[in-house]
Amino acid sequence: MTRAFNFSAGPAILPAEVLQQAQQEMVDWRGTGMSVMEMSHRSKEYMSIAAQAEADLRELMAIPANYKVLFLQGGASSQFAMVPMNLLRGKQGADYINTGIWSQKAIDEASRYCTVNVAASAESNGFSRVPGQEALQLKGDAAYLHYIPNETIGGLEFSYIPQPLSSDTPLVADLSSTILSRPLDVSQFGLIYAGAQKNIGPAGLTVVIVREELLGNTLPGTPTMFDYKVHADNDSMYNTPATYSWYLAGLVFDWVKKQGGLVAMAEINQRKAAKLYAAIDGSEFYSNPIHVDSRSWMNVPFTLADSNLDALFLKEAAEQQLTTLKGHRLLGGMRASIYNAMPEAGVDALISFMADFEKRYG
Ligand SMILES: *Cc1c(COP(=O)(O)O)cnc(C)c1O
Repeated sequence: MTRAFNFSAGPAILPAEVLQQAQQEMVDWRGTGMSVMEMSHRSKEYMSIAAQAEADLRELMAIPANYKVLFLQGGASSQFAMVPMNLLRGKQGADYINTGIWSQKAIDEASRYCTVNVAASAESNGFSRVPGQEALQLKGDAAYLHYIPNETIGGLEFSYIPQPLSSDTPLVADLSSTILSRPLDVSQFGLIYAGAQKNIGPAGLTVVIVREELLGNTLPGTPTMFDYKVHADNDSMYNTPATYSWYLAGLVFDWVKKQGGLVAMAEINQRKAAKLYAAIDGSEFYSNPIHVDSRSWMNVPFTLADSNLDALFLKEAAEQQLTTLKGHRLLGGMRASIYNAMPEAGVDALISFMADFEKRYG
């Protein structure tokens, strides 16, 4: 068996230990004679798997008791609509910060339901630096303030938590590519959402963490399946949930706990990112376009001095089991996604390959 160091932005690498455990349990889950995939979501066994996953996530993120944790489907992209449908609560507009491609998609979708106030945009600096709190032009009557702590495509990350203008304006964050990468004060947020396929587990699952008092006031015409309260009242089993993805997410939560929780993950992730940026900055051949105070710990885009060498770089990297380094189709260049499950050895191997490639072709 060969395990590549897979630098994919998502679906992304999973811990080998988790995959091995899933393999062991796949055909017969703990003497039940069936796979988790084959279980009724209402069975005692599956309910225990689901409840354990939620309990572990609550423990890892220290989620306060007045927050609901939902295990939904539809990806983070569905949340771009569910957030306004559920959180406008009779108000006319919402504040959004634009730091890149995903922010823009969230803004476009919300614009179908309300007046979007773009409180700040990094467009003026080519999406290379996160706007500071002082640059945010916030509205006092905004239904919520939405931002994307980590822009997965651009590799742009907030080093601070933006504060809404009014205490009646909850903060909403798309944490798809940075959830579980470090500790986070959940109480500062009204709602957090994350597609699972980056730092949680396989695709098909979307985790939503929402303060209970925000539920139950949807826009007229909101489909039942888009109402958070319906899912909250039914423990995310109003319909059939993504049972296997939920189970695998639970295995990942358990794995993160065994690594020492989010404090330990933060330490490892910061170290991995720091050494990769240092290697890029220390070379004449590679460069990263993001301002140092806005660099992502999770997604590291970089370019080669000569883009004619891109294909060769990717080919030689893949020969060394360093895979999926090609940058997003809209940006080109390279992107190394170094989520929780990317071992530090993978980052070390990438750095030494990059140095060697530069020596030969730089
Ligand atoms: C990947 C990603 C999305 C889209 O997620 P889907 O699950 O494919 O809908 C949205 N926002 C961010 C920040 C992402 O990284």
